[in-house]
Parts: sequence; C-alpha cells; structure tokens
Amino acid sequence: MPTSQRFEGPSDLHLHSAHSDGTQPPAEVMASAHRHGVRTAALTDHDTTSGWAEAAEAAASLAMTFIPGMELSARHEWRSVHVLAYLVDPDEPELRAMTERIRSSRLDRARIMADRIARDYDLVWDDILAQTTDGATVGRPHIADALVARGLVRDRAEAFSGILSPGGDYYVALYAPDPVTAVGLVVGAGGVPIIAHPAGRAGLLPAKLMTRMLDAGLAGFELGHRENREPGLQTLRELCRDRDLIVTGSSDYHGLGKPNQPGEHTTGDDMVARIIGRATGSAPVYP
Ligand code: AMP
Ligand code: ZN
Ligand code: FE
Ligand code: FE
Repeated sequence: MPTSQRFEGPSDLHLHSAHSDGTQPPAEVMASAHRHGVRTAALTDHDTTSGWAEAAEAAASLAMTFIPGMELSARHEWRSVHVLAYLVDPDEPELRAMTERIRSSRLDRARIMADRIARDYDLVWDDILAQTTDGATVGRPHIADALVARGLVRDRAEAFSGILSPGGDYYVALYAPDPVTAVGLVVGAGGVPIIAHPAGRAGLLPAKLMTRMLDAGLAGFELGHRENREPGLQTLRELCRDRDLIVTGSSDYHGLGKPNQPGEHTTGDDMVARIIGRATGSAPVYP
C-alpha cells in the first residue's frame, strides 16, 4: 500500500528510456531525474508501456512519485504529431492493438531505411540492432546511433539534419493514426491526452484539427518544452486560458541522445493534480 497519496514537485512529465529511443534503462532515467531535483516523474516512451514497472520501482526507492505515461505516435498529412498519454490502462485492447501496429510498422520502416542507406553508406541492419535494446520501440534515433558508431556522423543531431531527414532519399514514414483517433484511443483507455511540443518548428496544427481533437477529449498542451516557438506559443497560451485546458512543461529527456536535461521545464502542482484527477486508466505510484 502506498504510504501517502500526495505527490511533491518539481514534476517532469516527459522522459524517455531505452524502451524507446532514450539511452538509459528506466531505473537510470528515474535516478537522473532525481539528481536534477525532480520529485514527480512520468516515463513517456514512444508507443510502449513496457518500462513502467522498472521505473515505478526505481521511483519508489528514490521516494519519488511515478506517473505512468506514453508518447503515442500520430500523423497529420506529412507531419508527425506526438500525443502524451498519461495514466492509461496499459491493457485496454484498442490502444494496445494500435501501439503494437505502430511498433511493428516502425520496425519495418527502419529496415527499409537501413536498406536504402546501405546503398550509399557502410551500414548493415545488425548495426542498428546493436543500438536497440531488445523489445524497444525502434526509431530513427537508433539508426542515428548506428551511423555514429560507424563514424559516419558525429551525433544524432547531424544524422537527423542529414541522412535521416524527412526530405532526404532514405526517409520512410511510419504508420500512425490521425491525431483525432489517437486522442480518442487515449481517452478510451482512461488516460489524459496532452499534445507534446505543440509549437515546434513546423508551427501549429490547423485550428480546425485542434478543435476536433478537443472535441475528442484532448486535455491540454505541453507549452513548456524547448522546441516550442513564438508566435504559435502565444496562440496556444490564449487557447489554454480561454478553454481552461491543462498546461504542462517537461524536458523530453532522452539520456545522451539529446541535450535536454531532466527538470529543464516542469509542470505546476495544480496541473499535475488535474491530470491525476481526470484519469481512470491507471494510478500514480506514490512513495
Ligand atoms: P521517429 O519517430 O523514428 O521518426 O524519430 C523521431 C524521434 O527522434 C523523436 O523522438 C525525437 O525525439 C528524435 N529526434 C528528432 N530530431 C532529433 C535530433 N535532432 N536529435 C536527436 N533526436 C532527435
Ligand atoms: Zn524520442
Ligand atoms: Fe515527441
Ligand atoms: Fe518525447
């Protein structure tokens, strides 16, 4: 039984482990967050909940509160949309089927990208497998790490701006549901959907699409994120204020895979409480 039903800030609700494209096991992610002063943390690996148990146990041993989460892949036309899914029921059949489909498509897509890259560069599929933890959600970051290991690029950033860029010859899109469907799946699994880094370089999603997502149960936006930009950010601040939406701030920590550090953006206690209060799919793990 939990000893308390209270969480303590600072809260960082967007962290990745090696169960997707972070570079550390979930327990180490929690330890890194703790070292950076974070006291409530969510693990949000792409399209998987497989890291929850390890993260929850590590969080408990550090006297932190653990919020189970996931970053669900979605797509609108050519652009990828990331839906943070907090406190979903990991066994809800429709969401589960969707994440399995996305993960399997990610694997196929990585293989095709690897074949294309292999025509021009000294890289084989085993190089990518060597960078991927067994059972992890595969993504371009693993291909990037393989390119780094082969000495073909300096770091993930160089791989993303060159060989792995969506405009390049090697890019293949992954299967992902449209954002309205993704939001509906999260709500159907008792979770709280929040759009991750909603004002990035690509700009805001069309207003009509945002309205449809809100109608489907979208709870809020991750306004605190290093990739968000003005003027989109200001538009979303006003939307969140007018509609009383949940606003989060998080690091999107990927271990050594990105410069983002745990706790660089945080979520206010009132907003964390609203997320917890709205969810029915699973519960936080309190210290
Ligand atoms: P994918 O979903 O496989 O297409 O890959 C997207 C993932 O790559 C996202 O999780 C991002 O966090 C990561 N990513 C995107 N751009 C970069 C970059 N410049 N450096 C490191 N990671 C990146
Ligand atoms: Zn990622
Ligand atoms: Fe993301
Ligand atoms: Fe992320």
